[in-house]
Amino acid sequence: MNGKIAALLRDFAAIQKSKQSMWGYERAASAILALEEPIESLLQPDGTLRKIPNIGPSSSRVILEVLQTGTSPTVERAIEERGQAKDVERRRDLRGHFLSRAQVVAALRNKTLIGPRLDDYRGDLQMHSTWSDGSQTLDAIVAAGIERGYSFCGVTDHSYGLPIARGVSMADLAEQHRAIDRLNRKHKGVFRLIKGIEANIRADGSVDMTPSELAQLELVVAAPHSSLRVATDQTSRMVAAVKTPGVHILGHPRGRKYGSRPGVTADWDKVFAAAKRAQVAIEIDGDPARQDVDYDLAKRAVEAGCLFALDSDAHSTSELRYAETAIAHARLAGVPTERIVNCWPTERVIEWLRSRRSDASTQSA
Ligand SMILES: [Zn+2]
Repeated sequence: MNGKIAALLRDFAAIQKSKQSMWGYERAASAILALEEPIESLLQPDGTLRKIPNIGPSSSRVILEVLQTGTSPTVERAIEERGQAKDVERRRDLRGHFLSRAQVVAALRNKTLIGPRLDDYRGDLQMHSTWSDGSQTLDAIVAAGIERGYSFCGVTDHSYGLPIARGVSMADLAEQHRAIDRLNRKHKGVFRLIKGIEANIRADGSVDMTPSELAQLELVVAAPHSSLRVATDQTSRMVAAVKTPGVHILGHPRGRKYGSRPGVTADWDKVFAAAKRAQVAIEIDGDPARQDVDYDLAKRAVEAGCLFALDSDAHSTSELRYAETAIAHARLAGVPTERIVNCWPTERVIEWLRSRRSDASTQSA
């Protein structure tokens, strides 16, 4: 219900004429998606809604309509009147298999699901720090990671090929690595920061760093950030990316965004088969706006025998909990815990990362 209501509020936002009301309904939709509990539980005996921050009276009216009738005549009528049914339909297609926070919480609690439990999760392998477009320092990542009960975190700032995300230069990366070494000495035996990068997959499937640059990193997440709105088949691009020596994780494989873009079109069974052969992990990116791959596509990667990485893609420490969204998708997909690299002991993770790196040096020799 939370997802359904948020989607209707998004539809309503999209057809507003004033920027302010658009923004108001979008904010209300986000508030509903972030609720920990089903919205029905906020309904009071007198038929009104308990106060929810960021939700104004007109959004409340839409919510009550949906709770009472299953839909919102106000929204549907407005879409009809403004002749925007087609555009709204297109956006609705772009919200498939997204989970609201309440659904995430329910999936984590549901004991009948197999797949990883919160306790099985030992570390997060995609996040961004102040060295690129994140707001969390390395110190803050270590402190928050320890607080969450993790044993490791991969710091994966954007590569220099993505200036729009303030990609980190190789010189800065060397400096970052010295800072990571210092922190790892300080927390030896307790917590391990992993030297990573989020490299960009170019249109031809190559990665935007040279083999010798990739070899300087312990962890390489390769992810698409372009050609995410085209319908043409990009199977060869994604297969080439997972076959690239030194790549460990295929990050947010589709590159989709909630209600806005569909991401890469590909024969995913072929991509997953190539990933399985290369021992490259398929990521479930837990950013609520990404949820990529989702539980539906993840099931096919399970069948293909793939490894998985469940990551937050956090840009601040408060976003580290996005890993829970990824864990929820893995539970719904029935991903076996032993196939999730985040659930391995630190030494095994490091060993897996290293084995892909030595593959890289033999293959490039
Ligand atoms: Zn990315």
